[in-house]
Amino acid sequence: MTNLVEAFDLAGRAGRPVLIPFAGGVGQTAVTCGDLRALAARFAGVLDELGLVPGDRVVVRVEKTVANLALYLATLQRGAVFVPLNTAYRPQEVEYFLRDTSARLVVCDPADAEVIRPVADETGARVLTLDAFGEGSLTRAAGNPQPAIVARDDDDIAAILYTSGTTGKPKGAMLSHGNLRSNAMALRDLWQVTGDDVMLHALPVFHAHGLFVGCNVMLLAGAQMLFLPKFDLSLVLDLLPRATVMMGIPTFYTRLLADPRLDREKVRGMRLFTCGSAPLLAETHREWSARTGTAILERYGMTETGMNTSNPYEGERRPGSVGPALPGVSVRVTRPGSAEVLPPGEIGMIEVKGPNVFRGYWGLPEKTAAEFHPGGWFITGDLGFIQEDGYVQIVGRGKDLVITGGFNVYPKEVETEIDALEGVAESAVIGLPHADFGEAVTAVVVAQPGAAISEAAIQAALRERLAAFKLPKKVIFLPELPRNTMGKVQKAQLREIYRGLYSA
Ligand code: ATP
Ligand code: MG
Repeated sequence: MTNLVEAFDLAGRAGRPVLIPFAGGVGQTAVTCGDLRALAARFAGVLDELGLVPGDRVVVRVEKTVANLALYLATLQRGAVFVPLNTAYRPQEVEYFLRDTSARLVVCDPADAEVIRPVADETGARVLTLDAFGEGSLTRAAGNPQPAIVARDDDDIAAILYTSGTTGKPKGAMLSHGNLRSNAMALRDLWQVTGDDVMLHALPVFHAHGLFVGCNVMLLAGAQMLFLPKFDLSLVLDLLPRATVMMGIPTFYTRLLADPRLDREKVRGMRLFTCGSAPLLAETHREWSARTGTAILERYGMTETGMNTSNPYEGERRPGSVGPALPGVSVRVTRPGSAEVLPPGEIGMIEVKGPNVFRGYWGLPEKTAAEFHPGGWFITGDLGFIQEDGYVQIVGRGKDLVITGGFNVYPKEVETEIDALEGVAESAVIGLPHADFGEAVTAVVVAQPGAAISEAAIQAALRERLAAFKLPKKVIFLPELPRNTMGKVQKAQLREIYRGLYSA
């Protein structure tokens, strides 16, 4: 029943470092909990001066800095709602989010003020740049009075986080103080995060993974972070020996594996590598274990729910599985389009229930209602099944399911076969409009550098392994798959580009 900020106990840990310095990092000197608290207090003071009241939305589109983290804490502290935006969003997109949230305030980097100001004027939001907030004035901030931490109920909204827009327009998920605290506590306990940990933090902080799983869990545990502005392969390799935990997305691991400098010595002090936001290939999981001697812990979460499942810290980290439900969270699988619960092993829609489940989509009560089944079960949109022992396996998104000639084809099944072929680096299987079949299974394939692999060879190999209706009607070769910042393959984009393939 308290404000999430209180759980971070910055006052009680004032002398402890929270961000540790390194060349190329944000902040060249150590930042203690006390420094962070002082900077947050300074920002909270500015928010007060502007007349912001609890519940007001603060839209934030800034690079990953100490100030960004302090602004997050200041916004929570004053009971306002933090709305971080992907820094890749262009002014026109920012305008959409400002309108959508009717934000009173938008905070941007000084260099972007020129382009943000006209769109903010359109929506009536006030523009502040981080330098106006006094970025870099950690010591100056130290003498500021400490604005009170506004009391919040567990149900009060702490943040609106937009989903990644993988399947459509990003939706604003309302996360409460209770949602964020319960999920961070569950993860801290499950992953045994303590004040002795040092997290290599190379994720963006405008996404649930970097902000709620990364920062919230570390702040709650009183751990330290090596705060990288972004994933920089050489820097990550240099810093691994100083860290104990890294949270990553599949592309972090594939890029590290492609580098000959990765060896056991580099990861000797690491006790935990986690992975999520996109599917980790079982192959990558195995290769990582063989190369480093440590098993990646894969877990499954989403903006709307934080973490749903996680492989155990102690116990089997199963390749290809996202592990059992998190303590306190329930997961079930239903027949798509109904609330009929399916037995273990049967593929259906994954549904989630628990204190982690969000308070609804901002401004979209009807959409929210449509995404829940009675009893508080949130319909995730992901297809999968639960194994007899409770481990969950994701087979893909409902929207990516291909229905061809009346048969369901799960892209992952076909992708797994294609990926196993000699000379293939990776693949994405999509359904494209087709006059006879409704949708035609189509494979987009990236060949390994220098490999000569033909469409005919792929078709021939697949014919041996898959039923005829699952076979791709065509194979398209691309130098790489389109991905967003979180490493998610943009299948909607591929479907859009090749929409006319079978009608031409
Ligand atoms: P949108 O909802 O706007 O279409 P999005 O679903 O990609 O975008 P996020 O909330 O960032 O937005 O991502 C959550 C989704 O990411 C999950 O629903 C799931 O499809 C996928 N995901 C997360 N972790 C994993 C994982 N370990 N394995 C497979 N998929 C995962
Ligand atoms: Mg989603």
